[in-house]
Amino acid sequence: MVARPPAEPGQPVSAIDTPALVVELERLERNIETMAERARAAGVRLRPHAKTHKCGAIARRQLEAGAVGVCCQKVSEAQAMVEAGVPDVLVSNEVVGERKLARLAALAAEARVGVCVDDAGALASLARAVGEVPGAEITVLVEVDVGAGRCGVAPGPAALELARAVACAPGLRFGGIQAYHGSAQHLRSFAERRAAIDAALARVGLTLAALAEGGLACETVAGAGTGTFPLEAASGVWNELQPGSYVFMDADYARIEGPQGAPFRDFGQSLFVLATVMSTPVPERAIVDAGLKALSVDSGLPLVEGHPDIRYVSASDEHGKLDCSQAPGALRLGERVRLVPGHCDPTVNLHDHLVAVRGERVAHVWPIDARGALW
Ligand SMILES: *Cc1c(COP(=O)(O)O)cnc(C)c1O
Repeated sequence: MVARPPAEPGQPVSAIDTPALVVELERLERNIETMAERARAAGVRLRPHAKTHKCGAIARRQLEAGAVGVCCQKVSEAQAMVEAGVPDVLVSNEVVGERKLARLAALAAEARVGVCVDDAGALASLARAVGEVPGAEITVLVEVDVGAGRCGVAPGPAALELARAVACAPGLRFGGIQAYHGSAQHLRSFAERRAAIDAALARVGLTLAALAEGGLACETVAGAGTGTFPLEAASGVWNELQPGSYVFMDADYARIEGPQGAPFRDFGQSLFVLATVMSTPVPERAIVDAGLKALSVDSGLPLVEGHPDIRYVSASDEHGKLDCSQAPGALRLGERVRLVPGHCDPTVNLHDHLVAVRGERVAHVWPIDARGALW
């Protein structure tokens, strides 16, 4: 495995070298249990998205809590999860290209594998690749554009036509539809998210009616992320939820609202980038050792945990600049701070290891098994 971990199990938290990706085990476990319980209570399956953590140790904990499998976004990510012991993976994405399809088909000889499709030509290529692997079968979900305007066929007849082609293809099994509304997840107000999922529901309804008319059974209606899952769970239509970020949370998800404008606090912040203050040139400024190579800033700059009056104001390759003008001199040279990343998924992909801490001890140092698995 990858060398040079920033800590060893059993060490005190104070011995972790920085910058390091750290997860609080107690909060991680609570988040995993909370989502499992919410899915159970709604009577729907849970297939968490592994693109968030890319970590076999966390996937195994999600399975132990009742998840039916995991979602992956890329074929190589799915390979990493299967190698880490996950027996059931859905690539919740389109896969195009002979090499990727050959890898996906080979994976189907080792685990239960599903994939999304939104094009008849792509479907034919997938069927050819699966045909090359004796005994392999892949479950196909027809992806429907339910409002995000990204991948997916139009709802209704177009989805039926593609589903029919799946049902006729040897080696492929029509499993249902992928109905994920990505752009709804981070809408600030609950009312906006409800409106987006109501609109998605209408599109799913059209599609289910077309499939029923065409005589095709639709076993799975999959979708939902951390921002909207209560809506899909209560819809009576979606029956497999795919949230990912809930295990860690991030500063951007902490900004969305729950019902009635209350803060969305169903899940606790478990992921941090531990950083060291490496320079304090003036009392109003502190520089930490975590910049763009330790944190992603696409969804906003990180927050400084426990210091609402100190702002992380800019990131360069290896430096983060903190504005301490509201609390001059509050941070001393060598002091360590915990940063809450703006966006958890791309931040995790910057690290080889996740240091799992319980109280003041390092409990585990987990490899990020699918780090860099982007193909
Ligand atoms: C990213 C993603 C999710 C999970 O979304 P979160 O906001 O991280 O919970 C679910 N389904 C699909 C298809 C995704 O791409």
